[in-house]
Amino acid sequence: MGAGPGGMTAAIYASRARLTTVVLERNTAGGIMNVTERIENYPGFPQGVTGFELSELMKQQAIEFGADLREITSVVALEQRPGGGWLVVTDEETVAARAVVLSPGVEARRLGVPGEAEFMGHGVSYCATCDGPLYRDKEVVVIGGGDSAVEEGMFLARFASTVHVIHRRDELRAAKIAQERAFAQPNMHFHWNGQVRAIVGETKVEAVDYEDLLDHSQHTLPVAGVFFYVGQLPNTDFLQDVVALDDNGYIVTDEHLRTSRPGLFACGDARAGLIKQIANAVGEGALAAIEAEKYLDTLDFEAQQASVAATGTPEPAAG
Ligand SMILES: Cc1cc2nc3c(=O)[nH]c(=O)nc-3n(C[C@H](O)[C@H](O)[C@H](O)COP(=O)(O)OP(=O)(O)OC[C@H]3O[C@@H](n4cnc5c(N)ncnc54)[C@H](O)[C@@H]3O)c2cc1C
Repeated sequence: MGAGPGGMTAAIYASRARLTTVVLERNTAGGIMNVTERIENYPGFPQGVTGFELSELMKQQAIEFGADLREITSVVALEQRPGGGWLVVTDEETVAARAVVLSPGVEARRLGVPGEAEFMGHGVSYCATCDGPLYRDKEVVVIGGGDSAVEEGMFLARFASTVHVIHRRDELRAAKIAQERAFAQPNMHFHWNGQVRAIVGETKVEAVDYEDLLDHSQHTLPVAGVFFYVGQLPNTDFLQDVVALDDNGYIVTDEHLRTSRPGLFACGDARAGLIKQIANAVGEGALAAIEAEKYLDTLDFEAQQASVAATGTPEPAAG
């Protein structure tokens, strides 16, 4: 479930292993790659590749090997199937599966300041790639200091007259190469030790109020757009009573990517792992599918042994 790079790689491996493979995706295939302007660190693309292009290539490859991709289909529950396996309940249908690879990814964390929810879509955004062109020649602010904040800020700097970055620390967490580029960008301005207090405006965003955490002075920046990059939350609400999650809601697995329940595997950003990158999601997607295949082989072998013991004839493989 989930057709980001993790889920699509699992689908490529599973369908190529001739397993009947269904991919359930609530949006369109690609996951976060769909809203990433340019990807420069995925091997095989020395000039970089657009997120959209890489999504399309992965999707084609999965379909080519026979994966059945069902888009605009939200998974809402997982139930154990009587007699073994799982029922994957979506908003449209219920799919019976002998094994499931969970790859639901993460979504942007909300900061929860006044004005954030009210002005969503009216100046508040979590996706520069989607909304950046709307802010041509306007001033915008990016909240955050990690890779996403800096990379998306650089993208906004192509359109906006000025990109302000408010970060609550006095240095960025982003990769050094991204930092160097951002500091060299003439229309990017950094506001260190800043904590956003409110987004203000009448019918749309007009300014951001923030506090200098060192001297507690209050400031107002007149801007037309606010882009939040303050962390992420795993899309695992529907898994709360199904598999073990860590304190932050990420799926716990062992090194074989097995969750706490038999037949359920997990990969990618929603898994409690160390890094959140496409290359990692792809590697984990491959491993999850290979482990799922081994798991099914073991089930088939055990069923055959039991059948031979009971009747003297092997049971046909389930496929
Ligand atoms: C702004 C930004 C820029 C980035 N740039 C880079 C980069 O340059 N290089 C890099 O390596 N990494 C980058 N990353 C990180 C990278 O995008 C992720 O690590 C990667 O996409 C994770 O893949 P995934 O398959 O685990 O999850 P996702 O890509 O998040 O895919 C999960 C999929 O599951 C679907 N889904 C979720 N819940 C359900 C449900 N209930 N039912 C059905 N479908 C569901 C979602 O719609 C989504 O399509 C970036 C991330 C961000 C936020």
